[in-house]
Amino acid sequence: MKAAGIPVSRGMALAPAHVVLPWPVFSDEKREFHTPKERQIASVQNAVSSLGTFYTEAANTFYAIGDNTRGDIMVVHNAILHDHALQEEIVRQIRDDYALESAVLRAFRTYSIMISQIDNEYLSQRAADLDDVALRLICTILGRAFPEIRLGDQPVILIAADIPPSVMAGLHAGQVAGVVLTAGGKTSHSAIIAAGLGVPVIVGCEEAQSLIKDGEPVFLDGHSGELHWELLPREVDAFTLMAQRNDRHMEQLSFLAGQPTCTADGTPIQLSANGQDALSCKEINRCGCDGIGLFRTEFLFLDRKVPPSEDEQFFLYQSVVKQMNGRPVTFRTLDMGGDKIIPCFPTEEEANPFMGYRAIRMYLDREDVFTPQIRAILRASAFGKVRIMFPMISNLEEFLSAKGHVLAIQKELSDQGIEYDPQIPIGTMIEVPSAAINADILASHADFVSIGTNDLTQYTLAVDRLNVAVSYLYNHFDPAVIRLIQYTLRSAQQSQKPCSVCGEMASDPLAVPLLLGLGLRHFSVGPGALLRTRKLISLCRLQSCQELASGILRATSAKEVIEQIHRWIPEAYAEWVV
Ligand code: PEP
Ligand code: MG
Repeated sequence: MKAAGIPVSRGMALAPAHVVLPWPVFSDEKREFHTPKERQIASVQNAVSSLGTFYTEAANTFYAIGDNTRGDIMVVHNAILHDHALQEEIVRQIRDDYALESAVLRAFRTYSIMISQIDNEYLSQRAADLDDVALRLICTILGRAFPEIRLGDQPVILIAADIPPSVMAGLHAGQVAGVVLTAGGKTSHSAIIAAGLGVPVIVGCEEAQSLIKDGEPVFLDGHSGELHWELLPREVDAFTLMAQRNDRHMEQLSFLAGQPTCTADGTPIQLSANGQDALSCKEINRCGCDGIGLFRTEFLFLDRKVPPSEDEQFFLYQSVVKQMNGRPVTFRTLDMGGDKIIPCFPTEEEANPFMGYRAIRMYLDREDVFTPQIRAILRASAFGKVRIMFPMISNLEEFLSAKGHVLAIQKELSDQGIEYDPQIPIGTMIEVPSAAINADILASHADFVSIGTNDLTQYTLAVDRLNVAVSYLYNHFDPAVIRLIQYTLRSAQQSQKPCSVCGEMASDPLAVPLLLGLGLRHFSVGPGALLRTRKLISLCRLQSCQELASGILRATSAKEVIEQIHRWIPEAYAEWVV
């Protein structure tokens, strides 16, 4: 049996499936007037007691196998569960007529605000733990299974509707051989983090979750986007061979770690990484690159009830800058809204969140959010090369206002005697068609530009990048997108401003020769794609890429563009495209 999804990250894996139950969502507004309160309170107490036993046993099991980290987490969760203040709050909410799940959610929310005021960095970072304990407690009360990700010694292929980015960020390549998400688009943030693990990832594979049995061997092909299950012995043999070939590729790529990036005719190309946390720096440094071309700062805010303080942000940014050891780090200011829901900054529900109040559009209204962030980034700039980049800019006024705000904060820091880099480059993303069409105007005012092809494709083609139903229309090879990229590259060149591509297109093997031919000399790709992109670039001759690009600029459809690229591909390159 097989099903097709949308490929996100290449590679192949043959491993047992781990089918993850859907993450439950509970309302915090549900009322319950009829069940006697004492009965509700007793069911919470029973659930606390059985969940407490679960935590104790789990901690003992982890300690017995020497996994002290996870053992300690279980102990912390047990302590949260038994906190008197929290239990009293749950009882209070029940007496206020809230249904059990709503009472628990509301009590945890109050509790989280309470501990955030204790002014203890450790406690204020426990938001994800609180969510975890709250969900587990509700599931225990309601007798529902908790969507556990059980990881053992043998890597598994995760099959899930979606996995929250905060949970995905805690996974490691040694535990996970591949990821299949039935929901979301290829540029959803869960998918981007999964791709950062360097394992094959596909999304939009709707059949997978209901048809595959937990534990059965499956074969995931991140090149074609296919997932195979109920494998016959001869299929197992064939897939084993394919996976071995893929492993050989991986081995060949490992020799490129730490090497410079240049084309077959010796032109040096800048290859940067996209990062989102201090952990990703380890993999980025293992592969070696020219810095971080896009640091998505929103990940620090994602799983929090309370926003990170200026100091907490500063410590993260400083750690990233130091780990990059003199290579530039481009911090993109908080890009919230759209699919990036930041619980600590609740906003009104909107009919069209991708077109609405998001990213830079909130910038000047929310000084409480952006001033601490810019101060933290500027303070980190005293420790290495830092650049600031704004997302979703759609006109020059927005860019100039945001830049003016940065300059004002620079002055404030100077007055306070706080060190920062006064020459810090301030740039803009080009991810909205109006920004691309006005790229000459923006490039003349910005210190650098970076093309976000994920959103540029979404907005140019009017296709929601997360909507599986219209994903057949989402294609960065559409001539409209390619023309906007070409115009942006040319405008940046005329203004003598650096220009990179930091969307997923930069790591698409079919796009690499085209982008080189269009004049791109700076690629920024996910950590899992660094080595392969370096390899692909090394197989390209600039002149032949330029010929390819000029042919493609006359193409009339995405299909024709892709056909032209396939016709261009030399034999040595083809091996890396499969
Ligand atoms: C993009 O839109 O291409 C981009 C890099 O930003 P994000 O994927 O975070 O929206
Ligand atoms: Mg974007």
